[in-house]
Parts: sequence; C-alpha cells; structure tokens
Amino acid sequence: MVLAAIEEYDQLGRDAFLERYGYREARDYFVVHNGRRYDSKPIAGVAHRGVSGRPLRASEFSGGAATVGRTLGHLGFLVTDRQDASPAEVFLEKIRNLDTALSNGRPKRHQPLTLLWALGRAARREERLVPWDVTRAEISALIKEYGLDGDRPNPEYPVLKLTHFELWTLPDHREPPRPSGSPPLGWMSRNQPISGLCEWVYDLVAQNEAVRAKASAYLLSTYFQDKDQTELLTRVGLDAADDEPPPPSDDVRTPGRRPATVRRIIRDNALSRLIKTLHDHTCQICGTRLLLPHGPYAEGAHIRPLGSPHDGHDVAGNLLCLCPNDHVLFDLGALTIRDDLAVIDRLTGESRGPLRTIAGHDIDPQYLAYHRKIF
Ligand SMILES: [Zn+2]
Repeated sequence: MVLAAIEEYDQLGRDAFLERYGYREARDYFVVHNGRRYDSKPIAGVAHRGVSGRPLRASEFSGGAATVGRTLGHLGFLVTDRQDASPAEVFLEKIRNLDTALSNGRPKRHQPLTLLWALGRAARREERLVPWDVTRAEISALIKEYGLDGDRPNPEYPVLKLTHFELWTLPDHREPPRPSGSPPLGWMSRNQPISGLCEWVYDLVAQNEAVRAKASAYLLSTYFQDKDQTELLTRVGLDAADDEPPPPSDDVRTPGRRPATVRRIIRDNALSRLIKTLHDHTCQICGTRLLLPHGPYAEGAHIRPLGSPHDGHDVAGNLLCLCPNDHVLFDLGALTIRDDLAVIDRLTGESRGPLRTIAGHDIDPQYLAYHRKIF
C-alpha cells in the first residue's frame, strides 16, 4: 500500500499529490525510496487506503510526524529527518548508535552479531528474509561463541530491537512485540516470522563494499576488541575473496637460470581485506594508491607481529593499510610510529609526517609501543 502511494506521488508530482489529499509539505520526516524523497505524512495517509478503504486527509491524523515516521520505518522503509542524508549516512549513523545494554560495564553483543550475520548474507547475496527457525539457530550459535560470558542465546531480542530501530523488518507483521520481558520468545514461536534487514539496508550493503567494510569495522572495533576478528569475519562469511589480483605466475623463467622465489608471503585475510577496503587501498604512510590491471593493491600490515614470539592480535587496531615499500620499511624497523601518529624515519630521525587515518579505523597505541620496543 505504501508502494502504491509512492507510485501515485510519482505520477502526479509532489504538488498535485499534496493538493489532492490536502497535505502540506513535510518539514521533518521523509521516506526515501529508490533514491527519491517523499513527504512521509501524506504517503502514510494515502497508504491508509489499504486499511480503511479510503485515504486519510491531513486533518484526520492523530499523532505527529514522528509517529508516522516510525510506522513507516517498522514497515521496512527508510525514514529520515535529514533533508540531504544518503542511505549510507543514515545506515552508518544507526550502526554507531545501536542501543546495546551493558553487562558488567561492557556492551552486549547480540545486535552486533545479528548485524554481522546479516552483512555476511548480503555480501554473499543470500536471501534477505530468513525463516525464524534458521535465524534463531544461527544467531544463537554466534551468541554462544562470541557473546559475553553468561549471555543467553536469545536472538528474538536483537531481532526485535533492530526491528524497532528500523534496520530489520518482519514484513508479515505490522506490530511485532517490544523487545522486553518474556513475550517475545512465545510470540516468535507462535508466529514463526520471516525476517531480515530492511530492503534498503540489504540493497545498500550487498552492493556497496565500502559501506559494508565501514559497518563491519565499526562493529568489530567497538564490540569485539578481545576476539580474533579475522576468525569472526570468516565465521559470518564476510571473508569472500575480493578482486585481489592473483599472484604472478611462477612459470616465468629466465633462460639459463634457475627460478628463485623472492616474493614475500603477505598474510591476507578477511580483516586485512576489510581494512584495505576501508582505506580504499591507499597507503597510510605515503598516500600511494597502486593500481594493477586487476584493481588497486595494498597490503595489510600488522603493527605487533602475529605469531611467536610477538603474539600480536588479529584486530583492526593492530593493522595498517600500506604500500609494499612502506610495509617492508615498517616491518623491518626503518620506520616507526609515535603515539601522536607521527611516522618516524629511524635512519634520519626525522618525521615523515602524520599517519593517514580515517574515521572508523583507530590504531591502538599499545601496538605502536610494542613495535617501537622491538627495534
Ligand atoms: Zn606507502
């Protein structure tokens, strides 16, 4: 019904649509559909035809624009109070403002895990809407593995919380229960809803790898600092190979000489691919973005090395996105980074300038300190 109202709005144009049903221009809430913006109250009023058999005029509404916006949001539509916000901005702002409860001072991970699970499905272009028994089993398993100690695997809470937060949708149910108390589990068992990300969210994260990387990196660094983040990314299927170029063939031989492999083995995994995507494959030290025939190339560099004897952690705060030259210089101690993120050339003692940073990828100074200590 909402889509029918949007179609009519498109056909008539804004002014005629508003005039026909007696509405004024919206000042605060807009529905965004296929990249276009619609006044939310008249859309909701006209869509009401599907419920009451006739459209509602502006004067027949009780409840303000915020209520209308929420109703449309629960139906899975993108509603924003910002005139110029893009879906990517709205989505990332919501990700940064999840309402997660605390347990012993640490934020609970049910919603982040549910979102990572859904991001993985979208990255693989799997069905957006999933039956409840599948959702329940898969998210329960993730909460058991990656939740805080003592967390109960109760995926009905994150699903309903994200629904009320307008990132998730239960399209067959107009009024799902609030995520509190004991009713949710019984309601879910009785109704067996299909559910998933709102369509606009799914389309955004399935198509836009950079937005997916930003959201994943934020969730990892905010909620899973103590976990092996590569393992978690792999677990939720956010490790699909990107368009990294294949290694050069080893069959190329110079006549008369034995082939020798001098290529360094660059550890590449889901987390380093994510960090490289976040930086658009641009070196954090020199700003170079190497372009190969297959696409851009950069390397994920661990600050405190993984493995014995250093035992660094595979977390975003311990990773840099570097060009191969700076990767070698940094790994072998020709460059170090101060706590104020100045990059220091140890041969001259001079600064090469500040490390290039971006929002959503914070370097943890404990790893920089460790790196300085080993050289
Ligand atoms: Zn560089």
